[in-house]
Amino acid sequence: MRKRDEQTKGGRQRRVFTPIRVTQGIFAVLFAAMIVYLCLYAYNNRQTMMSNSYNSRQKILLEQNARGSIFARDGEVLAETVTDENGQETRNYPYANTFAHVVGYASKGKSGIEAQENYWLIRSDIALSEKARLADAGAKKNPGNSVTTTLCVPLQEVACKALAAYRGAIIVTDVKTGEILAMVSKPDYDPNEIDRIWDSLLNSSKEDARLLNRVSQGLYPPGSTFKIVTALEYIRENPTDFRNYHFNCSGSYRRGEEVIHCFHGESHGSLDFYKAFQKSCNSAFADIGMTLDRERFAATLKELGLGKEVPVDFVCNASRSDITASSPDDAVMQTAIGQGATAVTPLELNMITQAVANGGVMLTPYLIKSVDSADGKNLYKEAPAKEIARVMSEDEAAILTEMMTLVVNGGTAKRLQEAGYQAAGKTGSAEYDSQQKTESHAWFTGFAPAEDPQIAVTVIVEQAGGGGEYAVPMAKRIFDAWLDGGVPGS
Ligand SMILES: [Zn+2]
Repeated sequence: MRKRDEQTKGGRQRRVFTPIRVTQGIFAVLFAAMIVYLCLYAYNNRQTMMSNSYNSRQKILLEQNARGSIFARDGEVLAETVTDENGQETRNYPYANTFAHVVGYASKGKSGIEAQENYWLIRSDIALSEKARLADAGAKKNPGNSVTTTLCVPLQEVACKALAAYRGAIIVTDVKTGEILAMVSKPDYDPNEIDRIWDSLLNSSKEDARLLNRVSQGLYPPGSTFKIVTALEYIRENPTDFRNYHFNCSGSYRRGEEVIHCFHGESHGSLDFYKAFQKSCNSAFADIGMTLDRERFAATLKELGLGKEVPVDFVCNASRSDITASSPDDAVMQTAIGQGATAVTPLELNMITQAVANGGVMLTPYLIKSVDSADGKNLYKEAPAKEIARVMSEDEAAILTEMMTLVVNGGTAKRLQEAGYQAAGKTGSAEYDSQQKTESHAWFTGFAPAEDPQIAVTVIVEQAGGGGEYAVPMAKRIFDAWLDGGVPGS
């Protein structure tokens, strides 16, 4: 009996003891997993966490280090911290309004590269011996790490002057690397004055939206520039037959209740596929749109990036389209000419243009070349070209290049014809409703030289009218500066 009691006792002890052990074990594992997860989370999100204004570590770093500088691609200063004899720090932007949106500001919250690269700018990775030497010399703070961007000062200045007093945006990229050479959004502001003008910036009208970087955040109807995409889909579905396409334009195209008009009610007459693109005939492209396989069209739009997040480090809106396998006729007709529910950022249109120029391979656009400590140690270096995907075949890219060259040679972008280089591109006049009347944004997107592309330029001028008259001359000034004007680094 005693023995059995003990056994029972022992057994009960085991029964009590074992679940506790198991529970302890489970908790130990869960706890370890949680610590591992937290560490991984903190490590993977270290830049975001560091930039979070609730993070007191940021404040400590700013007490120890002077915020680092931001440089253009050739080393010119775009932003720097200047300290006066009383130790008072001022953030100085030598080019004032010229780089407003892309470089951003660092007080009143942060924007642009100031926000994107905050993690690096507030740290100082100079050697300990250098820190000691500076302290001995009486320095109160260590110099922060510096960021070298891909931005080209002369090109940014040309783009800024070209857009002048218009509202709109210009983006210029290197088609072989994805580097952003210029990024201009207007209306702009002077980041040196940010504290003084903050309230007026916040209160600017919806149309002005002065804090908005229109290049990556502005969503616009693409208008006829989108015929590049419609043409690609038609070539894809009719790889040999597309050359046999024929349309007789009488100025409009009707399908049921829906009527599409050509720009300014013009009749384009007898057209083949190339001519329809060169003259930007809406009626022909509505007709082409009606022949497309909607499921395949939707897949191509997605492949090109519509409805998807853009893989960039700065604030960016996703472009969109409402085309699906079951879209009604009117939606397809509108999308085929870049109207309806289609909305793109200038950045997205530039990426599509860059892919055509680069033989079909779309690259990640980027702004940061490298991060270095103030004593010259490299902390981060961007890969020279990061591929997103091949979004069209080399043949498709070559056909689109040929068509976009025709647009310059006698088509709607003929103001680019009288240049010392051969450009290729597409214009657009995107209609939108404003206070009960229809107005249009002027677009151009293209690249040069057509035979060996270097840069892709995308221009939108809000509320200006025809792309050929307003956006093309602005793009020409940029191509001229890069290809003929001896811009350093071009
Ligand atoms: Zn027409």
